[in-house]
Amino acid sequence: MRSRALRIVAMLLTVMLVLVMVGCGNTGGKAVTEAGLYQAGTYVGVAQGKMGDIKVEVTFSENAIDKIEVVEFNETKGTADGAIDKIPARIIEGQTLVVDAVTGATATGDAIIQAVEDCVLQAGGDLTALKIGAEQKEKQVQTLEADIAVIGSGLSGLSTAISALENGASVIVVEKQAALGRSFATSFGNVMMAQVEENEAYHKAKSDDTLDQAIERWSKMTMQGGQEGIPYPDYERVKEIIVDSGATIAWLEQHGLEYQISFTKEQRGADIVKPVTDGNQVAGELVIERLTNSLKEQGATILTEATATELIEADGGVVGVKASSPDKNFVIHAKNVVLATGGFGGSEEYIEQLIPDILATGYQFSGTGVNTGDGMTMGAQVGAALYEDGWIIPSPGKLLPSKKLTDLNVNFNKLNSYSPLEGGVTDKLMLVNQAGQRMTNEAGPGVVIAADLIDAKEAPYYILFDSSSEEVVSLLETGLDSGDIYKANTMAELEKLSKMNHLVSTFNEYQSMAKKGVDTEFKKPAEMLQAYAAEGPYYLVKFVPDFVATMGGLKTTGDCQVVREDGTAIDGLYAVGELAHRFLYNRAHFGNASNSASLTMGRNVGKLLAEQVQQ
Ligand SMILES: Cc1cc2nc3c(=O)[nH]c(=O)nc-3n(C[C@H](O)[C@H](O)[C@H](O)COP(=O)(O)OP(=O)(O)OC[C@H]3O[C@@H](n4cnc5c(N)ncnc54)[C@H](O)[C@@H]3O)c2cc1C
Repeated sequence: MRSRALRIVAMLLTVMLVLVMVGCGNTGGKAVTEAGLYQAGTYVGVAQGKMGDIKVEVTFSENAIDKIEVVEFNETKGTADGAIDKIPARIIEGQTLVVDAVTGATATGDAIIQAVEDCVLQAGGDLTALKIGAEQKEKQVQTLEADIAVIGSGLSGLSTAISALENGASVIVVEKQAALGRSFATSFGNVMMAQVEENEAYHKAKSDDTLDQAIERWSKMTMQGGQEGIPYPDYERVKEIIVDSGATIAWLEQHGLEYQISFTKEQRGADIVKPVTDGNQVAGELVIERLTNSLKEQGATILTEATATELIEADGGVVGVKASSPDKNFVIHAKNVVLATGGFGGSEEYIEQLIPDILATGYQFSGTGVNTGDGMTMGAQVGAALYEDGWIIPSPGKLLPSKKLTDLNVNFNKLNSYSPLEGGVTDKLMLVNQAGQRMTNEAGPGVVIAADLIDAKEAPYYILFDSSSEEVVSLLETGLDSGDIYKANTMAELEKLSKMNHLVSTFNEYQSMAKKGVDTEFKKPAEMLQAYAAEGPYYLVKFVPDFVATMGGLKTTGDCQVVREDGTAIDGLYAVGELAHRFLYNRAHFGNASNSASLTMGRNVGKLLAEQVQQ
């Protein structure tokens, strides 16, 4: 009897062992040895990345992680590349799961690590031991010297560096991401190039525009959603950006790019050009590739994965900068430091300080998360003045569902002004405040919608969906437990559930206006004024303003030299690009002007500083 029971136990254990081996996804497993750390073989692990699942295949020998391949992912090309290349290499090199993150691709890196952890468990490895981390190495200190240190390699940093190099200066570029120009790499590449008579020599199209007319249009555009009390734009500096925009494009063409008109001033409020591509390459990637080639050809010292942390001061001015990479600390001595670190959308602290009213809306920032206002912080530490206020440059999609919803299911990102889903285009829907009242033309410019929502302080805001699109409904159903979606069969029930006292009357008014094709309240165009289905279920979904860039940052002189509160310039310190472009706008940015201004500021400052150091 006892031996029969033992046989049954032995059989069960064998079956369980087989089941465990099948269930663990080991594609080439062999038995774990007595002394081995892992059960050798190749395992598959999956984890949620920023844009969906990331799948890895990890090959173990008995005592080591031998190979990690990221076999499937939906992450943004360019942005996530650093993590996909470097995180597996770092895990293998250190045989540890405690590795330095890749700046700008932290979510992707974390997901890769999580998927590898999954494989380690499947291979019977000791996760705790792998998480203790490699021995802390003492970082080597490297001292470098150049005429100009440029911090950041977006459009403004790259153009500063190239312009300085070609005018005879030596340059060190410090970039905290794994590769140069990542923030622009996914761009369509559009840049404002005003066709005014002052820059006629560079025109890409015939134009009858005068500088005054261009300025007038600029004023009209930037005052959308604007406020009279804001003391910007500074039109003298705007004029320089407009007039120099033609020479900037001609300069880019000397660096291997060719531009053509993409939008006219009638379409976008400014003449806009974009690079000619072979149709396969993303325009932004092409621009970065050509500018990076120029930078390298002209002998720049390039430090990637190096974060500038602190300016070095002497004699009341700036004489260098300190930076840190995963394995080195750099002390860089330079006659001038040019900060080109972009905006502050990735910093909750700066958002709270400079745009406090946006917090209640539960905003989304779809720009580059590495833009954390580092230049502002470093500048402030040496007495630089910050603009008192800040504002946002909305994303083309204008609004997004709440972060809770997009975190829950990445497909919620598809609901916006450009929704690929029939029934998901927010312009055509009704947006209400916490009381169930409309408050803006939902099809208006993003900057006006954002201003209306932020200034009104009536968050949370919701957009109403009906059940006419199966695709949209199945997406909305996935978010029902989030607390950010209300669902009911009738509008009366929805009003009760959401406690929005005006919801039914607002809905009835909207339906009646949609049937007549006239929005008497907010003048939404008839083609966007779409009536809802007469029958439910209906869904109220929490929506928030979505932005890609910011206005605010360091105050500068007309030559982009950083100033103190008393207006005096700080020797050796300059700021260009989004970090310094507040002076261009009241609130609304102007058709691809940020790209244009970043390039022009960089080109001019690079030349100016190179000429200064030659003297
Ligand atoms: C999705 C998106 C769409 C946009 N659309 C438009 C548009 O249609 N029209 C328009 O005009 N503008 C648009 N913008 C904004 C525009 O692209 C930027 O304002 C402009 O290109 C800024 O360039 P920049 O060089 O100043 O900054 P960025 O391109 O942000 O570059 C800053 C660089 O500095 C690096 N950095 C930051 N801190 C440090 C540090 N401490 N040490 C080292 N490196 C550091 C960053 O990693 C980054 O590479 C858009 C932006 C985004 C993200």
